[in-house]
Amino acid sequence: MPEHYTEPVTPVYSCMVGTNQANPRCIALGGEVGKQVSCTMYEARSSSCKEVQIADEQCNKARIAHQMIPFVSIPTHDADNDEDFDQVC
Ligand code: SF4
Repeated sequence: MPEHYTEPVTPVYSCMVGTNQANPRCIALGGEVGKQVSCTMYEARSSSCKEVQIADEQCNKARIAHQMIPFVSIPTHDADNDEDFDQVC
């Protein structure tokens, strides 16, 4: 990852440039927010990137900052009746 893609947050922690602001936009995000975007650094994704998950508080904070509706997280659960399930393949 290019060194200029990160900036210090504390003496110990750093973040991607552009993510630590009220209207976040990561320096590595390619495309147009609200239309189609992708990470240009995905294969070298930092641990701080992985802390943000779709529909979590940080994700929705960024979506709102970009005038996008927040995602609703739908919890998944295991089926209650799969104890005797015979797997076909
Ligand atoms: S995954 Fe990380 S590096 Fe890629 S655009 Fe998102 S915040 Fe930036």
